[in-house]
Amino acid sequence: MAVHGIDLGTTNSAIARIAPDGSPAVLAGMSGEPTTASVVLFASRDEYVVGEGARREARLDPEHVCAMVKRRMGDAAWRFVAHGRSWSAPAVSSLILSSLVADARFADGTEPTSAVITVPAYFGDEERRATVQAGVYAGLDVVDVLSEPIAAALSYGFGRLDGSVATTKGTGETVLVYDLGGGTFDVTVIELADRRISVLAVEGDHQLGGADWDERLALHLSRRFCEAEPDAEDPLDDSAGAQVLVLAAERAKHELSEAERTDVVIAHDGVRVTVPLTRAELTELTAPLLRRTVDLTRSCLAEAARRGVDRVDRVLLVGGSSRMPSVAAALRTELGLEALLHDPDLAVARGAALYGEKKELERMVAADLRTRGRLRDGDPVEDAPTADLDDACRRVADAFAVPLAQVRRAVEIRVDTVVSRGFGVLAVSDAGRLEPTWLVHRNDRLPVRTSRSFGTVRADQAVVALTVVEQQGQAESQRAQDVKILIQGEITGIPPGHDEGSEIRVTFEMGFDGILHVTAHHVEAAMPLELTATTGATLSQAEVARERDQLGRARRRG
Ligand code: AMP
Repeated sequence: MAVHGIDLGTTNSAIARIAPDGSPAVLAGMSGEPTTASVVLFASRDEYVVGEGARREARLDPEHVCAMVKRRMGDAAWRFVAHGRSWSAPAVSSLILSSLVADARFADGTEPTSAVITVPAYFGDEERRATVQAGVYAGLDVVDVLSEPIAAALSYGFGRLDGSVATTKGTGETVLVYDLGGGTFDVTVIELADRRISVLAVEGDHQLGGADWDERLALHLSRRFCEAEPDAEDPLDDSAGAQVLVLAAERAKHELSEAERTDVVIAHDGVRVTVPLTRAELTELTAPLLRRTVDLTRSCLAEAARRGVDRVDRVLLVGGSSRMPSVAAALRTELGLEALLHDPDLAVARGAALYGEKKELERMVAADLRTRGRLRDGDPVEDAPTADLDDACRRVADAFAVPLAQVRRAVEIRVDTVVSRGFGVLAVSDAGRLEPTWLVHRNDRLPVRTSRSFGTVRADQAVVALTVVEQQGQAESQRAQDVKILIQGEITGIPPGHDEGSEIRVTFEMGFDGILHVTAHHVEAAMPLELTATTGATLSQAEVARERDQLGRARRRG
């Protein structure tokens, strides 16, 4: 009955499940490593390799190696082409998921069938849908997509949610999660109080992570190499040479997390150059990158303060790149925050497994209550009378041999989260321009249901075109050219006889998963007008069928 927790990371991924003792355990595959490199090598038309083997091959066969596919999630036009086949971002991701599923099967002999998959908090609607699609391609029932910082906070604070956490300032604890991974940065302020875990504010940058540190360092190394050997070719001018240099840069970066200095040996174009490097140099070369994370952290704190929370009790550092000593140092000197490096590689997968178990136990308790007529369809379990809820928890605990306290905790703990970006529609303004009108705003609490009315622009209007848009960048722009078009649809077949300005009611609904559902309605026509969304954002049905067929033929090697 287990729901597995999967951290589908930019550079590394991991799978976890709840062990019989109730604690989340990460499952290692045959390699014995708890994490798998999120890298796919397309070895031939139908054969692929996932993980460290694929990462190593990146040097020798860069054209057939796909890394950092997470940065492409939600980009429906992107394809990775290898050996005459093309793969969308969800399809490539599904190969990574399938590899994790195989690891889990190897680790404990059970076949994962359902999972909670984590995503960065600022992932928008398309990226979340693409993640669900990846899970479906891998044959998983995706129970939910969960924000990575919530998963990290759950893994840190789940046990602490049992009672009220005592802090110097009373009950409740405010946690800032600073997550700097390989390709993404995410900062979140979360409150743990009264068996509730609430996201107060999120900030992040999709295109910022450890790989950017590697790139800056590789650039520096190539400069030093060219200074020492002016007649040799620049390693960055050659794709294999560049790969080797970036890997050397990453290794040096790791060493400088432990040591103050290191030497990097660059062998290229028949010559060898040794470049000495210090931690201070690395910090200086990459200072603008770190500054950006500090700035985003500052604005996340400001948003939390606007919501009445102006103190942070705990700073959790997650993501591999937060191991760089410069991170904790900058948070201390710039923001006065003392940070704790918390299980940086596995906290997210563990938290996802805890959440998966919570969802599963909650589902069973709800099913028990419903079959006994103590809960109406669609109502949340907390709406049931306390005595009934207690009885249902006991029956589920007995039936599945789970400690009663675990079932109670799963049912009682609430997870509140917020919208990652603004969503709206393009409508004609009073000035006659097409402008975005925002219905849902970043940091609104989920779930959200909101409606707004618009008027038709002329009498007897037979067709209404609707464009649903998503915020890009930090702020909600008032200019149509600044937004991302999510869904373009038309309401057609409106009968004549309606005046100009007839009401078109648009409703946005978003559940905890952050996936948007839009409906539109011509009120006067009193007919349920369908929004026929012709979204260019997600894959077409034909494309999904083609990829399914392709995935069905693909065999994993190694
Ligand atoms: P993640 O996406 O959380 O798996 O993080 C991967 C990123 O963390 C990569 O960019 C790694 O280079 C980086 N990383 C891992 N270990 C260290 C370390 N000891 N020092 C600096 N960066 C690290």
